[in-house]
Amino acid sequence: SARVGVLALQGDVREHARVLTALGADVVLVRRPEELAEVGGLVLPGGESSVIDKLSRLFGMREPIREAIAGGMPVYGTCAGLILLADELLDGIAGQQTFGGLDAAVRRNAFGSQADSFETELDVPALGTPPVHATFIRAPVIERVGPSVDVLAALDDGRIVAAQQGPLLGTAFHPEVAGEHRFHRRFLELVTAA
Ligand code: GLN
Repeated sequence: SARVGVLALQGDVREHARVLTALGADVVLVRRPEELAEVGGLVLPGGESSVIDKLSRLFGMREPIREAIAGGMPVYGTCAGLILLADELLDGIAGQQTFGGLDAAVRRNAFGSQADSFETELDVPALGTPPVHATFIRAPVIERVGPSVDVLAALDDGRIVAAQQGPLLGTAFHPEVAGEHRFHRRFLELVTAA
């Protein structure tokens, strides 16, 4: 079975670990470079991207994660994790950095305070039917994608909320909280293929 990590500095680590375990993966909670070295793929959870960024630097994880991404390791980021994957961050807090890798600009907290959390049925052609029940919690959106990025899903107004660039997968929403396993299965297929 695939051995995969969930970055366990902050955020909804257990929800991701539960889904990956249910899909048969061997899950490692990754807090240190030695743990990252054991896994063939990494999930960046939802949570607070600025906190995960700071903790990753404090724990000496920033450079190892950047090297793993540069080396082609499959990574799946949800919400804060998508922000951390983006090459360009819009509306970050002062000094906030991302790991990067995904040729995209991501705007943090893009839905404002009025509609900061909502759920919707999202058509994701790459995953087939039924549509994905998508939970958005103070979610980002993807505002620009480079030519090698595939858009997997957009809202009715055209805003991009799921994308993939080779082994890098990102969703602005949280499939892991609603029993949706297809994005994680896709991630595990990338790990097996890598
Ligand atoms: N707003 C959070 C951030 O900026 C993301 C929220 C989430 O992951 N649900 O990181």
